[in-house]
Amino acid sequence: MAGGDGERAQRLAGDLREREIDVLLVATPVNVRYLTGFTGTNGLALIDAGKAAAHRFLTDFRYTTQSAAQVPDAFDREIVAGEMLEGLVETLTASSGEKGRLGFDDASLTVKQHARLAELLGEGWELVPCAGAVEGLRAVKDAEEIDRIRAASRLADEALRETLEAGVVGRSERDVAIELELRMRRFGAEGASFPSIVAAGAHGALPHAEPRAREIRKDALLTIDWGALHEGYCSDCTRTYATGEGISARAREVYELVLEAQKQALAAVRAGPNGKEVDAVARDVIEAAGEGDHFGHGLGHGVGLEVHEGPRLSRLASEDPLLVGNVVTVEPGVYLPGRLGVRIEDLVVVTADGQEVLTRLSKELTVVA
Ligand code: ZN
Ligand code: ZN
Repeated sequence: MAGGDGERAQRLAGDLREREIDVLLVATPVNVRYLTGFTGTNGLALIDAGKAAAHRFLTDFRYTTQSAAQVPDAFDREIVAGEMLEGLVETLTASSGEKGRLGFDDASLTVKQHARLAELLGEGWELVPCAGAVEGLRAVKDAEEIDRIRAASRLADEALRETLEAGVVGRSERDVAIELELRMRRFGAEGASFPSIVAAGAHGALPHAEPRAREIRKDALLTIDWGALHEGYCSDCTRTYATGEGISARAREVYELVLEAQKQALAAVRAGPNGKEVDAVARDVIEAAGEGDHFGHGLGHGVGLEVHEGPRLSRLASEDPLLVGNVVTVEPGVYLPGRLGVRIEDLVVVTADGQEVLTRLSKELTVVA
């Protein structure tokens, strides 16, 4: 796991100084993992904004050995015997003094935890909402993270190729989803990065369709949205296939429209434009064809330790430009309720000289048997 040298904690400390935060409490497991390398479920990190930063990591007895192996020396490690928050406050006041500004993640700390923390801290320490501080760093991937996402993406592509070769018509959506996930695991994935979607015919009109026990018929559209989790990192991809030459003219028309929107938006991904602008590229194509009402979700999202993270590509995205190191999906879709759905999704890295598309599978309308 990268971040092992405490380099990420140091970058975060710089951001904290700008926000006039003395110490940041990091409690969300995925953020703790990102900063410390710790993969257990009960760990807290205190990131010290001071120049001679003494970052701390706290866990319980069960993780003594694991944390010693995973958490680098940039963190003082502590094993807390009793309540974690109590141990945290003792550590904080012992090493950072009786007062200061303690940042916390207001998007994840519960109201109950917040109240307990305020009670333990007393008068001296002010609790300051700091949601998104770690997520902002996570949105820009380093080379090692990109390698892991690329590997996850390759593995997912290969698993789908084999699954399709084995045949899908006549099998249930559920059966195909299980096989796909099994193949990803055989290729070395820890698992699927989210529950796979396999949706045929009218079922494909549900963007988050759950695979059914129902048989996949010939001459329908078949949408498959899946990803691998590999060395902690996710991939995400969608392809829509035809299960025969006999699909309707309307189905072909919708497919070609989504493909055109996807290609144009994908080409627009680079450092500079913001997530709203890239979303608008696909949306304009779909709206011009009169199908705007049938594209009800955002264009895409960041992918990393989590399958949905920053930055977003949508009408509601921030004005912040895309940056080198962002890894995002581009996934327009058109859904005709009760009839059919098409979604095409690629995973792409913003690079210094443009972009690298990680998904290698063809996007031309392909017939599968
Ligand atoms: Zn997806
Ligand atoms: Zn996605």
